[in-house]
Amino acid sequence: MARVVVTGGAGFVGSHICESLLARGDEVVAIDNLLTGSVDNISHLFGEKGFVFVEHDVTNYVHVSGPVDAVMHFASPASPVDYLEHPIKTLKVGSLGTHKTLGLAKDKGARFMLASTSEVYGDPLEHPQTEQYWGHVNPVGPRGVYDEAKRFAEAMTMAYHRSHGVDVRIVRIFNTYGERMRPHDGRVVSNFIVQALAGKPLTVYGEGQQTRSFCHVEDEVRGLLALLDSDYVGPMNIGNPNEFTVLELAQKVIELTGSSSEIVYEPLPVDDPTQRKPDISLAKRVLGWEPVIPLEEGLRRTAAWFARG
Ligand code: NAD
Ligand code: UDP
Repeated sequence: MARVVVTGGAGFVGSHICESLLARGDEVVAIDNLLTGSVDNISHLFGEKGFVFVEHDVTNYVHVSGPVDAVMHFASPASPVDYLEHPIKTLKVGSLGTHKTLGLAKDKGARFMLASTSEVYGDPLEHPQTEQYWGHVNPVGPRGVYDEAKRFAEAMTMAYHRSHGVDVRIVRIFNTYGERMRPHDGRVVSNFIVQALAGKPLTVYGEGQQTRSFCHVEDEVRGLLALLDSDYVGPMNIGNPNEFTVLELAQKVIELTGSSSEIVYEPLPVDDPTQRKPDISLAKRVLGWEPVIPLEEGLRRTAAWFARG
């Protein structure tokens, strides 16, 4: 049993992490400033033994009393719509927030996990992306606030590892979807499902030929907890290697929901990556992990969750 601090614990991925940790008997201190998260995501955990929620902005000094075995730093806007709306907060939580939470891990002698992202590869020129690829990022474009914050966070994490001996893990998360995404957080899976259920047109950006590889949150959380429990520093890609065009995704969502929605085409956002697919050989070899939930099943579960309202 361990005591784990989860920053961003009231967010989409963070709330699933809290749930999985509690289910295996760990204690959880969830810290979140509710910028893009909600107490609704964790309210069902409030009665559980060993669960504490603290409303706090982790760009400020983070104090946690008592022993801590692991710090999982997941706080950060993650949807392009959110980080474009909060560019400075995104840069601050990736830089100052990573510094503060690494400081907490160092002080407590705790393991530290950084939630990094496939966006460190930018608009990748190598395909699929392995962990060796250094990326192709526009530092001054609008997405740079997220990409560079995460690249800085990786560098800071490695510096604490090398200079202070902090036991770190870096996970590069690829597009993750599932239950508890906000209906209007702007990411493609939630947008399409919400639009399809409402019979509204699905908004495909560009010609919809750009690709993504979508991982259901249950597979994702299983992978990142396996990395946390391993002795591999990283960085490690955790995502689903099955690649789809955005147009294919729209067609699948319409089919699975039995919707009468049409598809409309809207402008492609600036610097939108053309292709993205993780090479997960490393995760398979080191952790014996790979995703098992097919896109159709994951979309069905997510749509059922949104339909319940
Ligand atoms: P999310 O927006 O649902 O969750 C992020 C959480 O962080 C929110 O609850 C928000 O309120 C909180 N937060 C933001 N700034 C904070 C601050 N300064 N102090 C305290 N809390 C703060 O997003 P998500 O999809 O759950 O993403 C979680 C993490 O995983 C992020 O670090 C993100 O970069 C990373 N990630 C997610 C994906 C994905 O596809 N979901 C992909 C790559 C990386
Ligand atoms: N996208 C889209 N319609 C939407 C939302 C997103 O076509 O309503 C596209 C977006 O341009 C990108 C892909 O879907 O090419 C994935 O977008 P998302 O915001 O989910 O995540 P990203 O991978 O860009 O961070």
